[in-house]
Amino acid sequence: MSQESMKSDFTRKLLKWNTAQNRRIMPWKGEKDPYKIWLSEIMLQQTRVEQGIGYYERFIKAFPTVFALAAAPEKQVYKMWEGLGYYSRCKNLIHTARTLVEEHEGKFPSTYEDILKLKGIGPYTAAAIASFAFNECQAVVDGNVLRALSRYFGISTPIDDAAGKKIYHSLACSLIDPVSPGAYNQAIMDFGATICKPRNPLCGQCVQSKECEAFRHGYAEELPVKSKSLKKKTRWFYYFLIEVGDSVYIRKRSGRDIWQNLHEFVCFETDKDAEYAPEDVLKKILKKQPFIIQSSSRVYTQQLTHQQVNGKFIRVAISLSGANRVLLEKKITKLLLTGAAGQDAEGAVGYQLVKKNTLHEYAFPKLIHAFLEQTYPPPAPAAI
Ligand code: SF4
Repeated sequence: MSQESMKSDFTRKLLKWNTAQNRRIMPWKGEKDPYKIWLSEIMLQQTRVEQGIGYYERFIKAFPTVFALAAAPEKQVYKMWEGLGYYSRCKNLIHTARTLVEEHEGKFPSTYEDILKLKGIGPYTAAAIASFAFNECQAVVDGNVLRALSRYFGISTPIDDAAGKKIYHSLACSLIDPVSPGAYNQAIMDFGATICKPRNPLCGQCVQSKECEAFRHGYAEELPVKSKSLKKKTRWFYYFLIEVGDSVYIRKRSGRDIWQNLHEFVCFETDKDAEYAPEDVLKKILKKQPFIIQSSSRVYTQQLTHQQVNGKFIRVAISLSGANRVLLEKKITKLLLTGAAGQDAEGAVGYQLVKKNTLHEYAFPKLIHAFLEQTYPPPAPAAI
């Protein structure tokens, strides 16, 4: 699917999910009064929604309008803010309420640019007020939005550096529904908070899962990336090239991991360059079948966005002496095709025997390809 199709699909499915399945309830949801929207957004900065709700309701009761807040003694406002922390928010709230009354007849400016000029209001809050109250097409970009976008589009640019901020802002603006920007903004924030959660996202019930890059490749929880935490996971793949005569076992990778639909040799994975004996792993895979380790390669490395994959290739020959070749092949193929090799040889499933001189016909990851180029170079084209 092209990037443009992914974008329109994302917005369409998000709005559909919002109408049919979004059950998130918050007292300020659907609010059109810019004063109340402003209060809720300021209170929710650095504050959990559950904690903010009580404060919001008490504030609205005590100061139902911007006039009431502007006229209130500072002491009373601070007392009501007590426990929410970050008191500069409270100071700015009082200041802006008074500015609105003194300079704007108690009315909020109706455009994003003018709202942004008010003290204590940054791009996020201005976009929320402009879109919810005045239907202006301004995208809100908070943590929930960043998380959902980075995962769905598979973006690993850090969300907190200058390049990342630009990328995410422009992407968010290109996704917003021009007909109902407020509903769209609320929907994506709710989606990030309840479905595409920081930990244990509900991918299994997510309407976006079919196209979601992070879900499809199995790295949802690794995103979004922050500049200080850009750490790559290191994986070690030990590939056993189990050869029977002129053939070798390979399989197509499936599941939610890297390199889907590419091929590989019999693979044993660890998360570190562990000191282990390849013979022990092979014994578990091949049971009683005698084998000979012919060679072990150098380490090959492939850098991916979120991980570094190191690969080592161990060539293994199966002894054919005295064996009925056809029966032997059947026996080993059964082990490697069905996973009968057991838990310690986890992943030894789905392999098939193919002729070594046909390996160039299969698609392999770059890492394996580099090894193959040296070990089983493709046959030279036939002379004309
Ligand atoms: S599939 Fe998972 S990671 Fe992707 S958008 Fe949905 S919840 Fe988020």
